[in-house]
Amino acid sequence: MRGIQMVDLKKQYEHIKHDVDAAIHEVLDSCAFINGKPVQDFAAGLEAYLQVKHVIPCANGTDALQIALMALGLQPGDEVITPSFTYIATTEVIALLGLKPVFVEVDPGTFCIDAAAIEKAVTSKTKAIVPVHLYGQAADMEAIMQIAAKYNLYVVEDNAQAIGCDYTFKDGTTQKTGTIGTIGCTSFFPSKNLGCYGDGGAMFTNDDELAARLKMIANHGQSARYYHDMVGCNSRLDTLQAAVLNIKLKKLDEYIIARQKAAAFYNQAFAGNPKITTPFVATYTNHVYHQYTLVLKDVNRNQLHEFLAAHNIPSMIYYPVPAHRQKMFESFGGSAFKLPVTDWLTERVISLPIHTELDDDQLALITGKVNEFIH
Ligand SMILES: *Cc1c(COP(=O)(O)O)cnc(C)c1O
Repeated sequence: MRGIQMVDLKKQYEHIKHDVDAAIHEVLDSCAFINGKPVQDFAAGLEAYLQVKHVIPCANGTDALQIALMALGLQPGDEVITPSFTYIATTEVIALLGLKPVFVEVDPGTFCIDAAAIEKAVTSKTKAIVPVHLYGQAADMEAIMQIAAKYNLYVVEDNAQAIGCDYTFKDGTTQKTGTIGTIGCTSFFPSKNLGCYGDGGAMFTNDDELAARLKMIANHGQSARYYHDMVGCNSRLDTLQAAVLNIKLKKLDEYIIARQKAAAFYNQAFAGNPKITTPFVATYTNHVYHQYTLVLKDVNRNQLHEFLAAHNIPSMIYYPVPAHRQKMFESFGGSAFKLPVTDWLTERVISLPIHTELDDDQLALITGKVNEFIH
């Protein structure tokens, strides 16, 4: 049996090697390494896929979040409501810009920001909400957008883990996550569902003016060559990375189905185990399984991790320390936030290997060992 990894990028590459190698060589031949044609092609391709008016590529997902917040014209001390149970980049950029992260609770079932907790945290200084579509399913965007409308707040979706995910509104219409709020942000980090072979990211919006601002900020605040209207940064998607993404974007739906199949195998194998809670998928979303994350009951998680490792099965804790408990946020009053659901999850979650290349033998081994340890 092939060795099991959290993400098997090598085997995935082998299936698309012919196309990827050709696309990379085309870029090498053109020597258009910066803003070459593949970058525009990719932006247009992703706009069509997401059904969004503007995709603005940038250097990575963290930059996307930072540039998005910069474009909203927020003032130092303005408050931004965000979950604590997320990857650090979401919350870090808020602090970096001199804004105040206001950490709120997540839903214990979906692991995404709790809409009711958002409304309780709104003050006169609140300017924006940054929901995260964690692990690959959508936060409750309809409820979030209603709160945003009521209090006149911006919504910046952190879609780094959920590209391709569909949110369903109460009227039955669906929309891709990342295209519902004011701005959506994503990452093309190699292990993401749509990953390149280095760093990459993008912002999405349906607002023409905002799109122009995002583009300008990502390009040194430049309005015309050598004319700089505002302080920006330098954040570009490499042409080589765009060439890879053009190939992988065509495969994204197929990749999502492969992840969902692996998740279905896991769900079935753990269904009878009372100590394991498999991912709960809310009615308003599908799940693209960036992570497959269990909640354990009365299980020594470290021992499980070690037991699996001894059988060459990797597992990961996403995330062992929530943002509000990070040293980084001590001076922001992080530990003053009381988030029992977040703390509870932090102690009980474990993520199993999930990717496009898992086969039934590997899945049988993983589920067999997990059920052997947890019984
Ligand atoms: C990966 C990720 C990011 C950051 O993306 P980078 O490209 O690594 O900067 C931000 N938010 C979430 C939720 C992520 O998973």
